[in-house]
Amino acid sequence: MLQHSPIVNALTIDVEDYFQVSAMAPYIAREQWDAIPCRVERNVDVILSMLEKQRATATFFTLGWIAERYPGVVRRILEGGHELASHGYGHHRATDQSRAHFLEDIRRAKGILEDIAGREVYGYRAPSFSIGHANLWAFDCLLEAGYRYSSSVYPVKHDHYGMPDAPRFPFEVRPGLMEIPVTTSRMMNTNVPTGGGGYFRLLPYPVSKWLIRRVNRLDRKPAMFYFHPWEIDPGQPRVRGADAKSRFRHYVNLHRNEDKLTRLLSDFRWGRVDQVFLGA
Ligand SMILES: [Zn+2]
Repeated sequence: MLQHSPIVNALTIDVEDYFQVSAMAPYIAREQWDAIPCRVERNVDVILSMLEKQRATATFFTLGWIAERYPGVVRRILEGGHELASHGYGHHRATDQSRAHFLEDIRRAKGILEDIAGREVYGYRAPSFSIGHANLWAFDCLLEAGYRYSSSVYPVKHDHYGMPDAPRFPFEVRPGLMEIPVTTSRMMNTNVPTGGGGYFRLLPYPVSKWLIRRVNRLDRKPAMFYFHPWEIDPGQPRVRGADAKSRFRHYVNLHRNEDKLTRLLSDFRWGRVDQVFLGA
């Protein structure tokens, strides 16, 4: 019996710290960011050693704000053979930005990442999957800034996310720009979240495993999975004043997640977005 599915899935990590999460934005002012001790460096190092143990590679969608302060993190990502990509500079939802500000933010991040890496960075993921029907101009900005793929759509019904009716698998959203959505499973005319985030922490691991395997076998497609460095860090300080829903989403099953991700890494084959989807 084959231990692994032969399909290589794409593993992605959104490199930001716990206090930069969109749902926590109402409770932590941006001006405070510089004064809060970062945990992202330690958490990325843990992830890099998990990947090394499993001989897996991944794509790291990294905030310009983090790269500027922790260039060593970026270098270690590259040294591990992983793909460096952009999560924008300041973690603003695209839906909260004007076209000009969005363009400035994605250009700034690309410049910082490329300066550190000494190579081109051409993947992008919008904070909180915030590209939808109301701001499709964001795709034009991505092309204008020199990006070649985006993974900014999670086609599920969610109070913060954009496009439940978007295609479930990679599509050319503009000539020269691919959109590679986070993976969903199609069941009873609904897209079921399958590609990570809070859902992965919430669901029992065997359910997540079954859903990803179903996409590999039934749809015969690689999955696009994502998580954050703070999701393997149960020791992170609790954000004061956050509402019950945001607290639940952020903290549920944090203490089990590193173990679940380790199982996920060993049960499937994982690679970088550019290699899995763009034939790099
Ligand atoms: Zn983010």
